[in-house]
This record gives sequence, structure tokens and C-alpha cells, in this order.
Amino acid sequence: MPYPHMLAPLDLGHVTLPNRVLMGSMHTGLEERGDWGRVATYYAERAAGGAGLIVTGGMAPNPEGGVFPGAAGLYVDADIANHRQVTEAVHAAGGRIAMQILHAGRYAYGPDCVAPSALKSPIAPFTPRALDEEGIEKQIADMVTAAERARAAGYDGVEIMGSEGYFINQFLCAATNHRTDRWGGHYANRMRLPVEIMRRTRAALGRDFLIIYRISLIDLVPGGQSFDEVTRLAHAMEEAGASILNTGIGWHEARVPTIATSVPRAGWAWVTRKLMGKVGVPLITSNRINTPEVAEELLAGGAADMVSMARPFLADPEFVAKAASGRAAEIAPCIACNQACLDHTFQGKISSCLVNPRAGFETELNYLPTDAPRKIAVVGAGPAGLMAALVADRRGHDVTLFEADSRIGGQLNMARVIPGKEEFHGLVGWFEGEVARSNIAVQLDTRATPEALGRFDAVIIATGVAPRDPQIPGQDAPHVLRYTDVLRGGAPVGARGVVVGAGGIGFDVSEYLVHDGDSATEDLALWQREWGVADPDQAPGGLAEGGPRPAPPARAVTLVQRSRGKPGKKLGKTTGWIHRASLAARGVKMLGGMEYRRITPDGLVIFRDGQEETLPADTIVLCTGQEPERGLANALSQTGCEVHIIGGADVAAELDAKRAIDQGARLAAAL
Ligand code: NAP
Ligand code: SF4
Repeated sequence: MPYPHMLAPLDLGHVTLPNRVLMGSMHTGLEERGDWGRVATYYAERAAGGAGLIVTGGMAPNPEGGVFPGAAGLYVDADIANHRQVTEAVHAAGGRIAMQILHAGRYAYGPDCVAPSALKSPIAPFTPRALDEEGIEKQIADMVTAAERARAAGYDGVEIMGSEGYFINQFLCAATNHRTDRWGGHYANRMRLPVEIMRRTRAALGRDFLIIYRISLIDLVPGGQSFDEVTRLAHAMEEAGASILNTGIGWHEARVPTIATSVPRAGWAWVTRKLMGKVGVPLITSNRINTPEVAEELLAGGAADMVSMARPFLADPEFVAKAASGRAAEIAPCIACNQACLDHTFQGKISSCLVNPRAGFETELNYLPTDAPRKIAVVGAGPAGLMAALVADRRGHDVTLFEADSRIGGQLNMARVIPGKEEFHGLVGWFEGEVARSNIAVQLDTRATPEALGRFDAVIIATGVAPRDPQIPGQDAPHVLRYTDVLRGGAPVGARGVVVGAGGIGFDVSEYLVHDGDSATEDLALWQREWGVADPDQAPGGLAEGGPRPAPPARAVTLVQRSRGKPGKKLGKTTGWIHRASLAARGVKMLGGMEYRRITPDGLVIFRDGQEETLPADTIVLCTGQEPERGLANALSQTGCEVHIIGGADVAAELDAKRAIDQGARLAAAL
């Protein structure tokens, strides 16, 4: 059997899970829209795909505990019927599902938020109200009632969210709990809240119900728990009735990345391993586990009893089923980009997936067999063209894919060379595999001509983008490069670089230039040094004394933009701060409000605050955005053939792989 540890059943007494894979909690954004049939279909697909146990997105136990006003929850009996649609669909698909009870405490985006002490979080807008004794009792009672309602709705269990800096975690740390009553002060008092919640929930629900506790094993904030304290809590939660302990890593306000793509794979499993053997209940490890190989290695090596994966189940609902049937190579990889999932959540949008646009849209985006197969040409094998070709092929169309380059991937091939973006190798590899397994006729090194395209019933133009010409006087000098010269052509760059344009690509190029081949993402010890992570046995909370110790930069880099303000504001909601912090740590100067006057042999002459200044540079790299590549589309418009334009060739502004893949999939689903 492949992956024998990952696919081994787990006996929990009253229930046996079929394998060691938990689909971890992720907010979908569907619940707030009241479309519970869609929520049910979303989870049922993942149950059918083999997840051993599913945990829902966080559900508030009462209005004040909601992440934002109106956030999904289970605090009125009338909602039980909605949740029952979900549990029935999951059970019908052969799965099991637990509901996560999430009380946000001071992280709630609402004026009614409550916490142990009236201390505002740096990432939330409201100062919480400090609860009195009666208020604390009410919160506990509401959580127990939410668990009872969850059972009434047919859930197989609940997960009590005790990590990530939410309400319970706020009680556990002295930094956020300044109370002097029996809920604050020494650790026995600070951990009273989770212990009471667990004890009373177990008492209310009896033995035959799963209660998972998500324990913060490493807080990654100043004043975080020591590992002794965490271990004490783990024992107490086991004694109070927890069935399983799931790993939580870092508070949301932590300034250490915990799940971003630049975090090494399984880069936090060592923390779970520290607790292994110290408690009798199964332990689940989590964060940046995205392939069956990594999961198997962790379980075989004794890092945990189960692995949790959340985002990988967005990328591919059939993760487990494919692994179990020898089709692991077919698993669409989660590249940990957050672009369509967590970034969407924080923008109030439906959580989906860059790699799998069907995620969250299972009831409306389906790749059904066509009853009228057509000959379709796709021009351009970047993300938009690849997805369009794959979906059209899957539906039964006769697809030919033209690519001028000698390999597929388009702009993804530039992303993959950036230190910290190694996951893009896997994405390109997956596309290569999918194309090889399909019936698509691939013509590499081929520029499609209007004549050659004349024999097709429909043509999909996915010819991508060309770099925008910023028209800076002097830009034709030999020390001026375009980002494509650097990332695709490997053109040499001098010791002092100025990067012009601070969009996603300007940031990527800067990251590339300050490294000299070493990527901390592939070296956990190096990565921990760069971000200041320490063993919580030595440093409470896991923050190294002395802070981050980044490697010296390979070059001196200045990154500039014309807009006022700090560069990087438009980067991903949940990852932009990581890119900014990473460049700042390597000494990159990030400057806004520039007017570009000219380029001289000495560097870039800019104008700001009423005067000219030269930013010295041996090399200047232009990353000034892109324009649609439409030459072929324009030529075809004269021929009368059916033409569809997608990806960057359609709209270059704000282009990213998410929009390209989504557009390709949706077009091909409708052809
Ligand atoms: P972009 O995000 O549109 O940024 C273009 C940059 O060039 C901006 O800084 C813009 O800022 C500047 N610019 C625009 N027109 C200019 C002109 N005529 N002269 C001088 N400067 C000009 O484009 P991009 O960086 O090429 O990225 C393309 C897409 O890929 C983006 O959507 C991006 O999000 C995505 N991407 C994302 C990531 C990521 O990390 N998530 C990484 C790579 C790419 P000013 O106008 O202020 O100068
Ligand atoms: Fe993973 Fe990115 Fe998809 Fe989110 S959007 S599930 S991080 S690939």
C-alpha cells in the first residue's frame, strides 16, 4: 500500500478514522451568504475525496465571539437545520466532520468584542471589553451550548479553537491577560478557561463525541507561553476530556510567517514532535504540509499521529483518494500563495483556490463532457492557456496547444526562480504531468500563425503580456535590463541595483537580487535564524533573543515607485507584510513618490521634494508592469474565426496567475 502511515486507520475508541489526514479548518465565506447547499457540496466533495476527518471553518458560539459582525456561527437553534445539510451531505459521501468553535476575543472586528483584559490587538481596530466573572461564565456556557447544537446538527465532533491568538489563547498569555482574579495571574489560573470549557463540554456531550482542542504550541509573540506551560496545558486538556490535540502555530499578530509559501515545507512539525510521547491522546501536526510524501515522512518519523492539511484540500478535494490509488502525481498542488483563499477571506470574498477555481464554486463551475466536440486551438501555454486547454480536453474537445517557448509554464517559469517561491516548480510540474496525461496535441517552439489557426473551430488566445515600456530617457543603455532579462535570461546584475517599479514583480526581482542562490525556504535552520525563531523550551513563545538574524544581502538594492507611500501596499493581503519584511531585513531601500528623470551611467536620476538626485546603480532593472500581447489576436480578427482572449492578453493590469487560471477554466467550461 502506498503511504502506509498516512493511510493507516486511527482508532479513537467510539470511532475509527479511515486514515491520518485531517482536512483542517478554513473559512469558506459561503456560510455568511446563507447558501448552505453550496457549503454542503463543498465539504461533501472533500469527504468523497478521502479526507479522514474534516473540520469546518470557525463558527462563533455567540455574536460577540464572531470574527466580524454577522460572521457564521451556531448560536441559535434555528441554524441547526442549515448545519444539518452539511453533515448529512458529508456522511452520505462517507466522511466525518467536526465543527470548529471559534471565539475571536479581541481579534473580532466589532465594537462588542470581549477579552480577558481591555488590551487592543495591533491587528484589530477595537479595544475589547474586559469580561467580569459573569461574562466569562457566559462565554463558557455559550461554547458548551454551541457544541451541543453541533451534535444536534449531526456533527461527529467539535474542535475548540485555542490557538492563533484568539479568545482562549488571549487568556493563556500574561501579555494579554492582566487579570488578578482566578482567571489571571499564574499559569494555573490563565489556563482555567480552556480547561473549564473542555471539562464542561465533555460533561455535556458524553464520551461518544470527538472533542479536538487546537492548542497553541508556539505563540510567536512577546510574552508567549513557555513549552513547560504548553505541556501542562496539554495534560490538563487530556484530563478534561480532549479526544485529540491539534497543533496551532503562532498568533495572527505574530511577525513570523507560519503558512506562507516561503515557510519551509513541514517547517513547524518539530514543535508537535516535542509534545509526542508526553500525552496519551493523538497529536495532529500542521502547517505547510502539501504532499503525501511530506505527510508520510512526518508520520513515519514519529512527528505526529495525524497530519492536518487545509489549503491542499482546496487545491484538490481528491488529495487522499489520488494518493491511495497510486495517482499522487495527479494531485493539484497547493502552492501556499494565499491568493485565492486567505486573501479572499480577508476581503470578504468566497475562499477559492488559485490552482483550482472550482473550490467554493462546486455547484456552478463544472467540467461536464461536451455533446458537441470541437477542434480548439489554444495559443500560449502560460497558466491561462494551460488551464483552458486542460478543461477543454477533459470535456472532450480536440485541443491543440501552441507555445512559442521550448517549455510550458509562461510567467510561472519566472516565479519559480525567486527564492521563497520554490512551490512554483511543483505547479509547473503538475501542469506538465496533466498535459502529458491528456489528449492535448502540444506544439512547442511554435509561433501559431493566422493561416495555421484557420483549420480550428475556435481559437483561444492566451499569448500573455509584454513588459511595459516606461520611456525613461537613457533606458537603452547596456546597464538597463528588463525583468525578463534577469529572471528568464539570467543576465548578470552588478553590486548595486535599482529596481524600477514596485509591483509583485519588482518585489520578486528585488528578492532575487539580494540572494545569491541560497533559499532559506529549503533550509529550516537558516529560515529560523532569518525570522528569529527559537525552541520554546529556551525562549518562551519561541522568539529568539536578539531577534531575526538575516543573511547579508548579495547586493545593495533600491526599489522605487512613482506613487506616494511605502511600496508594497497592493501586495497580497496576508503575505505583503512578509515580502516587505523580507526585503527590509536584507537592507533593501523601498522608496515611493519618485519621478524618473533619466538614466545615466551612474544610476537613475529621480526628482522628489523639489530636487534631482541620483540613485547610484551598476544595474537598473525595469519592472514597470506589462501590456497585453495581442498581435495574433488582432491579425485573427480579420479572418472571421471564433476567437476568445484570456489571461494577460485580455487584461494585463493586475494580472496574476489566479485570474489567468480562473478565466481559462471558466471559458473552457462554457465552450
Ligand atoms: P504591477 O503590479 O502592475 O506593478 C507595476 C509597477 O510599475 C508599479 O509599481 C507601478 O507603480 C509601476 N509602473 C506602472 N506603469 C509605469 C510606467 N509607465 N512607468 C514607470 N513605472 C510604472 O505589475 P507587475 O509587478 O508587473 O506584476 C504583474 C502582476 O503579477 C501583478 O498583478 C502582481 O500582483 C502579480 N505578481 C504577484 C506577485 C506576488 O507576490 N503575489 C509576484 C509577481 C507578480 P507606479 O505607477 O507607482 O510607479
Ligand atoms: Fe493553496 Fe494558493 Fe490555492 Fe490557497 S489559493 S489553496 S494557498 S494554492
